[in-house]
Amino acid sequence: MIKDFKYFAPKTLKEALTLLDKYQDECKVIAGGQSLLVLMKQGLVAPEYLIDIKGLTELNYIKSDAKGLRIGALTTHRAIEKSAVIKRKCSVLAEMEQRLASIQTRNWGTIGGNICHGEPAGDPVPVLIALNATLSLASVKGKRNMAVEDFSLDYFETALEHNELLTEIQVPAAPPHTGTAYTKFNVIESDLATVGVAVSITLRSGDGVCQDVRIALGASAPTPMRAKQAEAVVKGKKITDNLLKEAGEIASTEAEPISDIYASAEYRRELMKVLVSRVGKEALARAKQA
Ligand SMILES: Cc1cc2nc3c(=O)[nH]c(=O)nc-3n(C[C@H](O)[C@H](O)[C@H](O)COP(=O)(O)OP(=O)(O)OC[C@H]3O[C@@H](n4cnc5c(N)ncnc54)[C@H](O)[C@@H]3O)c2cc1C
Repeated sequence: MIKDFKYFAPKTLKEALTLLDKYQDECKVIAGGQSLLVLMKQGLVAPEYLIDIKGLTELNYIKSDAKGLRIGALTTHRAIEKSAVIKRKCSVLAEMEQRLASIQTRNWGTIGGNICHGEPAGDPVPVLIALNATLSLASVKGKRNMAVEDFSLDYFETALEHNELLTEIQVPAAPPHTGTAYTKFNVIESDLATVGVAVSITLRSGDGVCQDVRIALGASAPTPMRAKQAEAVVKGKKITDNLLKEAGEIASTEAEPISDIYASAEYRRELMKVLVSRVGKEALARAKQA
């Protein structure tokens, strides 16, 4: 049963940040509630004050310019999935959202809530790491930015301070000849990843050598992670199937998967080998066409 709490529904970001600063660790922010309510019903989280930010329309937008995309933290998964500009400029984000949870959850859950929940098996963070995305965090004292790859600190723990809100996600415009792909293996369709893999590849103009690569893994460690040793195998070389297979094998050794009811750690490592190679091939094909 949910413990009693005092409820606030601020109308502006400034109002929300003031409340957050006042109540700090006695309060909890709620956006779509798709993750938080589960924890509250289980009694794992019992805030004295609940600050409902879902009504902050100033944090609900998708904007696009020459620098890339800017997505407000309160944008729902469904809005990202259906956005014409996202499909045109960053289709991997829309593809990822299409496989996240059910339509009901996507209709109400927000991208910001997903990121702040700190779930190591969530879909958006590995994709955003591969896309080299950044975050804006705001408090009454001002704003700070950080790379998505630095945001997750440990199992369900993020770099967010008690008095901060995530306000925006920035996805930089991809360099020419860049392709990004994502997939997850999951036992139950519309559920969290058993393992998720996102790969972004940039090819050098002319000779097609791999100029840059980012390989991000979900459900493979206490936090979503970059497989940097696997990236080093591919970077600066002409990519072949064998090279991607080798990258998958290296990624599976640098990850730190756990065993749980869905899969053993050993099985997860096997999935990483297969998925890094498979998703890498898809990213490469897209880079060649970009
Ligand atoms: C049945 C089911 C299936 C699911 N399947 C998947 C799946 O396949 N893949 C996947 O990735 N996720 C999945 N999820 C998780 C879920 O979709 C997301 O975690 C959800 O979208 C979180 O967004 P929310 O707005 O509902 O966040 P909330 O539940 O409201 O909040 C989550 C956490 O983030 C904090 N928070 C929210 N917004 C902000 C903000 N702007 N600034 C600071 N802190 C904030 C809250 O305080 C809370 O700690 C599933 C959930 C359910 C219920």
